[in-house]
Amino acid sequence: MNNKIELIDQLFKHIKIDCSKCFGFCCVALYFSKLDGFPADKVAGCPCKHLQSDFGCDIHSELRNKGLKGCTSYDCFGAGQKIAQITYRGKSWISSPKLAKQMYEAFLVMRQLHEMLWYLTEAVTLENIVSIKESLQSMIEEIKQMTLLKPEAILEIDIESHRTQVNILLKEAYKLNRQDKKSIQKTSFEKMLIGKDLRKVNLKEADLSGAMMIAANLKECDLSGALLIGVDMRDADIRGANLSKSIFLTQTQINTAKGNQFTKLPSRLDRPSYWEK
Ligand code: SF4
Repeated sequence: MNNKIELIDQLFKHIKIDCSKCFGFCCVALYFSKLDGFPADKVAGCPCKHLQSDFGCDIHSELRNKGLKGCTSYDCFGAGQKIAQITYRGKSWISSPKLAKQMYEAFLVMRQLHEMLWYLTEAVTLENIVSIKESLQSMIEEIKQMTLLKPEAILEIDIESHRTQVNILLKEAYKLNRQDKKSIQKTSFEKMLIGKDLRKVNLKEADLSGAMMIAANLKECDLSGALLIGVDMRDADIRGANLSKSIFLTQTQINTAKGNQFTKLPSRLDRPSYWEK
């Protein structure tokens, strides 16, 4: 069991965020809005006023207390370190200002590639996916190769067509993973769940993809096998909930939800330090 967990964690190693190897791309390249929990409204390509010359954040330890949820929940899926260390081989937007604009654009494409890699990597670890395992692995390999392209070629990638193919595979992986393959109710689950109390609803293996679950009450719910891709979980109460076997859950979703020490998470995700103890 432990070996399996270690093996899975190893697969995710290169698509987990590592700010120490990045040049603060998310704090520069993105457009932000104060309303979304960032320190100020800012245009894309302009460094945040809190970003320091060593690419650290001068208010890092206070982000949560200051209510900067946008900063604490963002996850680049390891795209930042890939752009910094592989694509541009250690050149930063400060050391190579002429390349800065291209770096920001490449970062945005890389983030989407790494996000697809994240989901596909999880898909290959699911149960009963033998019939599509080869397709998943070849898609992973294809996308990995794209992440190693030169910046000019990265900017030419047709992300949408790849995303469509990836989404078909992910949906199939979720279906194959389900133990209860006959339940129709689970495939057509309600998507507008803002503020809903779901504690008495059977959410196991439910297709919740794209659902709006802002501030929903999921306290102590069992979300094993539930499809959570694209679910908006901001302020959802997941204290004591079991998400250890939820499908396509990301660090951003976890960072924006309200959990505690009893919330069960997959080993590849980190428990936010600011969660209730
Ligand atoms: S406040 Fe810190 S983490 Fe947030 S965008 Fe600015 S530098 Fe980045």
